[in-house]
Formats: sequence, C-alpha cells, structure tokens
Amino acid sequence: MSSVSLENVSKRFPGGNLAVDDISLTVKDREFLVLVGPSGCGKSTTLRLIAGLERCTNGKIRIGDRVVNDVAPKDRNLAMVFQNYALYPHMSVYNNLSFGLRLRYGGGIVNRGIRRLFKPGQAAKLTQLRRGIDQQVRQTAERLGIEPLLHRKPHQLSGGERQRVALGRAIVRDPAAFLFDEPLSNLDAKLRQKMRSELKRLHREMQATMIYVTHDQVEAMTLGDRVAVMNGGKVLQIDSPLAIYHRPANLFVARFIGSVPINLQPGVVQPHGSNLRFQGGGLELEMETCFGPRPDADLTSVVLGFRAEDIRLTDVSSPPIRGTVVGVDRLGDMSHVHVSLTDNQTGKKDIDPQTDNLPTDNLNIPPTTAGMLVARSAAGVTVEIGQTVGLAINPERILWFDAGNGKNISKDQT
Ligand code: ATP
Repeated sequence: MSSVSLENVSKRFPGGNLAVDDISLTVKDREFLVLVGPSGCGKSTTLRLIAGLERCTNGKIRIGDRVVNDVAPKDRNLAMVFQNYALYPHMSVYNNLSFGLRLRYGGGIVNRGIRRLFKPGQAAKLTQLRRGIDQQVRQTAERLGIEPLLHRKPHQLSGGERQRVALGRAIVRDPAAFLFDEPLSNLDAKLRQKMRSELKRLHREMQATMIYVTHDQVEAMTLGDRVAVMNGGKVLQIDSPLAIYHRPANLFVARFIGSVPINLQPGVVQPHGSNLRFQGGGLELEMETCFGPRPDADLTSVVLGFRAEDIRLTDVSSPPIRGTVVGVDRLGDMSHVHVSLTDNQTGKKDIDPQTDNLPTDNLNIPPTTAGMLVARSAAGVTVEIGQTVGLAINPERILWFDAGNGKNISKDQT
C-alpha cells in the first residue's frame, strides 16, 4: 500500500470553473481518509485527479514517492469503486472479479488471450497462472461472502450484492490505494449501515490506504480515520472525526457535521462583573470568563454555538434560561426537543432580523433559526408542545465563532 499526497493541486475546467482550489493534503499509508462536503464542492474531481481521470491545472500528485501527474490511470495501480458499480453486465460475477487479473497477466479479455502469450509447451505455466487467478478470485469472494454468487450475472443480484462484487473487483487487484466515489449511495439505509461496517472491517483486515468521497456526514464520521471537509473547491479542515465534531475550524464545518444541526445564536459578549454575558437570538447567558471567546476576538459580533447534547432540560423553578417547547422528535432511544426562546419569561421577546441573522457562507444547509434551540433529552423525559421548560447549557462545550469571517474563536476547544 502507498501514501497519496496532493501539493497545491488545482483544477480549472474549460469554461473557467475552478472545481479544486489549491488543495494540499497527505493520505498516510494505510489511512482511511474521507472527503466530505456538499454537492459541487469538488470532492469527486479531487478523487478523479488522483485516479488520473482528470489532469490537474496546477500542483503535484504523488502516489508513494512517485509524482504521477503524467502517469496514465491504468499505470497508477489504484482501484476505484463508483456509485453505479460499473460491472460488466454480460459477465458472471466470477469473470467480473477475474477480468482485471486476466488483463494484467494475460493482456487479453478471455482465456484465449492468456493462451496467446504462451508458446506450445508452456502449458504448465498457463495452468499455474490460471490457478493463481482462481485462488485470488475465490479468496476475495470468501472475504466478501459472495462465493455462492460467482456464477450469476449482475442483473441476477441485489443492489447490496452488486456493490460487494464491485468492491471485490477492486480488492482482487491488490492496488496501491483504493478510491471510493459515493459507493453506498444507491443502497437503502439499513444496507448502507451494514456495508459501512464491512468496509471498516475490510480496511482493518487489509491495512489498505483508502480515500472515500461522500456528501453524507454520518458516513464520514463513522468510516474515516481522518475527515477532510470541503467547500468551494477548498479543504476547510482535515482532522479526526471527533476533533472535527468538537473543534470545528469554522461555522461551515460546525453546521455541516452533526446529524442534528448545531445550535447557533448570533449576538454580543460583554463583561458582567467578574463574568461574561452573552446576549443574542433571544438568549441571555452568563458564564465564567474562562468559557468565553479568545480575548483578542471582536466581542461585538460573535456566534455562540453548542450541540443538542450539551443542553439539559431543567426544572422551570430555577432556570438560567427558559423557553417554550414548539416541537418534539421522539426517536425511541432519545428525543429532540425544539424550544423557542422568544416566548419565555426571561429572554427578550423580539428578534431583530438585521442583527440576529447568521452570516451566510454559501451553505446548502438551513441555518439554525435565531431564538430557536434543539435539546437532546432521554427517551423517558416527557415534554409536550406549549410547555415551558428550563434549559442549562454546559459552558465547557460552548463554541465561539467570529460572525464576520465564521472562524472558530474559542479559547480552548475540547
Ligand atoms: P457531487 O456530490 O454533486 O458529486 P462534488 O463535490 O463531487 O459534487 P464535483 O463533481 O467535483 O463536485 O464538481 C465540482 C465542480 O466542478 C462543480 O461546480 C461542477 O459543476 C464542476 N464540474 C465537474 N465536472 C466538470 C466538467 N467536466 N466540466 C466543467 N465543470 C465541471
């Protein structure tokens, strides 16, 4: 297996579209890196540049120590798995799996092609080669649990089985690295989950370098050793899934990652005695200075962020914050409680759309509405729409962002 690195790589398509904008990153040998971002952010183009299916306008791409900018795709020794499987419809599963090996060893599509390479008298060598290919195909089929399907054609398989065959075709080649472009998006939710675990297991067993493109943040979080969040052709942050979740570099990453959107409230911070007070979006919150933003930050224009699991529903009798329940999503094992702060007894009544709007940053994600919060509660907690609840936000988990440029300005992010 090999590392893969990009050094100041850009791709401008004819017509001027800058799909990849000066990306530098290294995928370490045996690492599972996920490229995640909204539609059109440039993740597939980045993968295609690595595969050699597109030529970069600037920069260098290395596989191991070798610069491969001028190396043809077939000579890069990479295996790519696409969303649409791209199986040969007229071939059996066995032949789909062995096709690449026969090409590599024999230079022909069918056994006739292999035979042509050998002069009469070399039958023993031919037999040995065939046995080797057969062994590799059967080992791969066993690894993926598709041995009983080897005689079938792709149209006789389910979506999940087809995806396994596509995976098998990549594995059997023993490439320098695997490239996956949204390989699970045609599968239903349950099967996706199953295939995610299988991919994770395969990665562990094979100790392979894998680069995986998805727009699904759950896939990114569960699969990646590291995750690169992309937008507008740039990598905004590259880090471990938990670091990305807990220490997002900016508002875009904070909003993109997390199955429940992060709570964000724009406002101002002011000293309040020996403490700090945040005001904005119907929220007034006092906290110790140590939980505030970096001292050099512009405190007059901040966005306060916290995740649903960092709010606790409390008794209304001693509330730091009060709000009115406007919706409850009961998920069985937990509930998401949507709370309006603008109709409470301690917060302000009106939201100013001018000052309480979040900065726009070209997101395809609906912004959290100012004055609204989502809190996670245990399944047993019963709250009803219209009920007044108290809310306690864990100050240790509060994130701060610059409302102007969206950058994380938290002091110490854990
Ligand atoms: P998706 O998740 O929708 O597949 P993506 O993040 O993979 O999106 P890309 O396919 O890499 O995005 O496209 C990045 C940008 O480059 C988009 O604006 C797209 O329209 C543009 N683009 C992609 N291929 C071409 C092309 N062949 N010619 C011109 N523009 C292209």
